[in-house]
Order: sequence, then C-alpha cells, then structure tokens
Amino acid sequence: MMIVLMKPEATVANIGAVLRHCRESGLNAMPSHGPGRNAVGIINANQGTDLTAVEGLPGVDKITPVSTAFNLVGREFQPEPTVIPVGGVNIGDGEFVVMAGPCCVESEDQIHSCASAVAAAGGRILRGGAYKPRSSPYSFQGMGEPGLKIMAAAGQAQGLPIVTEVMHPDLVETVAGYADILQIGARNVQNYALLEAVGQARRPVLLKRGMMTTIEELLLAAEYILAGGNRQVMLCERGIRTFETTTRNTLDISAVPVIKSMSHLPVIIDPSHAAGFREFVPALALSALAAGADGIMVEMHPVPEKAFSDGRQSLDFDQFAAMMDTLRPVATALGRPLAAAKAPVPSGGALS
Ligand code: PEP
Ligand code: MN
Repeated sequence: MMIVLMKPEATVANIGAVLRHCRESGLNAMPSHGPGRNAVGIINANQGTDLTAVEGLPGVDKITPVSTAFNLVGREFQPEPTVIPVGGVNIGDGEFVVMAGPCCVESEDQIHSCASAVAAAGGRILRGGAYKPRSSPYSFQGMGEPGLKIMAAAGQAQGLPIVTEVMHPDLVETVAGYADILQIGARNVQNYALLEAVGQARRPVLLKRGMMTTIEELLLAAEYILAGGNRQVMLCERGIRTFETTTRNTLDISAVPVIKSMSHLPVIIDPSHAAGFREFVPALALSALAAGADGIMVEMHPVPEKAFSDGRQSLDFDQFAAMMDTLRPVATALGRPLAAAKAPVPSGGALS
C-alpha cells in the first residue's frame, strides 16, 4: 500500500479528486481523516506503481509506502483512534464500555433478566451467543435465530445494543438483521471466508483473538475486514493458550498497549474466557481498565451453576454489580469514566 499525504490546507475537493483519479486508474483508494492531516491509502499500489499523476494533483504533499503488512489497520494509515458508535455509546472514544451477558441465550426469561441486570449495574451492551462454537458436537449448540430474536427484544427493552457471534458466512445477513455488533469468535479468527463476509456487512465487528494467534496475525485478520470495506472493527483479547493450567487461558494484558501502539482500532478485553473462573474475573477486568483497554466483555448469568455453557466463569448478578462498583471509581480516577447508561428506547427494530 502507498499513502498519499495531503497538505494541511488541502480541501475536501482535493481529496475527492485524488480518490476519483485513483478509481479511474483502477487503483483501490481509501481516505483517512485525522486532525491536522488527511491522507489517501492506495491499497493495490506499491513502490513500483507509477503515481506521478497523483503526485501532481492539487493538495498532494507526498507519497510514501506503508512499512507494515496490516495497511488499513495500522497507525501509519490512520494515526487517530477509530471510534465506533453503537446505539448511543462510542467505543474507542475514551470512555470505558462494559458489555455483559450470558455465554449463551437460553430462554426468554434468562436473557431478559440478564439484560435488566446489565442495564441496572451500568453495563452498556448486552452480549450472548445464539450460535455457539462448542468444543464437543454433543454440547448445546445455541438457540439459533429464535435466540437472536429474544435477545434483540431483551436489548431493546433495556436500551442496550447487542453483540452476538456469527459462525458462518451464510449467516452473516441473518445475524446482522438482529445484532448491533457481529462477534467473530476465537476459533474463527482466521476463517477468511467469514472475515470477508463481515467485511461486506454494515455492522461493527468484534474480532476475538484466537487462543494461538499472534498479535500480528490478529491485525492481519482485521485487515481482511477493513479491506472488504468495513472499517468498524474492534479487537478482543480473550486469553491465549500457554503452559499455565490453573486458569482456562492466560490473559495477555500486554496486548492492550502493544495493539494500541500498532493499530487505531479499539481494544476490548474478555476477562471471562481468559480466567475461566469467576473469582478471578474482577481483577482481570480492573487490569483491562488500567492498561488502557476501551472496554470489557464479561459473562454473567442469573444462576451460573445452571448455565448451559461457561457457568464456572460467569458472574451472578450481585457479583457483576459489585465488579461495576469496583470499576467505577477507578475509571473516574483514570479520566476514563464508565460509559453512561441511557434511557430505554420505547420501541423500534434492532436495525434502527
Ligand atoms: C464467547 O464469547 O462466548 C466465546 C465463545 O468466546 P471465544 O470465541 O473467545 O472462545
Ligand atoms: Mn462463553
């Protein structure tokens, strides 16, 4: 990729002319806006491409190559953080966003009671899986579309946008019909057909790091989604597999500052799948806040012992509320307050 750096005084029309020229020359160009500096990334160009015509266009300062493989995801293309607006909350904008809910949607009662407990404690986004990637084919695989339906209704009743997993390219449209954020699970981080499919979707994506995925591989996986045209991607560290066996996974907290140094995308920590045990979840959540993550995604359940999946790592409602009470003053002290709860929306579809 080559980056066309615009002069500080370059106008919107100048940028438009660069984009138009690229399009007419068969070059795939994307604008990047930042205070003090606008740029245009030309994805299918390299140092061998003749760009002298572009160089001569009004407002163009200089043209430089990108030195990393993750072009669109990297800070070279876009120095400013990406902010993803989801149902009244801005992810990546400085506030700390808490997403919470059950591992899987089990029943109308369960998801509604979770939604009201999330909202009451100050969580801003409802999580829950309707399509579940289970290690065993004999385990509960999720409720499917009926689960999406009741989850969307539960979210709406509490004014909470919903994040839910999509496991197959053919289901992206269906899931996007209900979900505010499409989750790609750890096991699918390098499912390139799925990444391309969500790249076409008009929904933000929460991309989970695989348990054996390096940070560079995660960034390259995100690159697929951005290259497909969807720039609303957040990256989620959920624990990696190490020699340690006392926790389910090992939370790689260093992923937060490392990813932030390399990429403009928001970073979310999932302390639940990292820890595997509910008693360790609040400490990992605090570490996420302290390390500079943009938010967390936490599993909770009305009766964790009876959960269809991941009960051992799920908080009950009181534990969730207590964790929020612990996070709140720390978030305020750090100048990154918990994203504020909003009044319930009276009605309307999940797509609005
Ligand atoms: C989940 O969020 O419930 C989940 C299955 O997570 P992961 O893909 O990180 O294992
Ligand atoms: Mn789970």
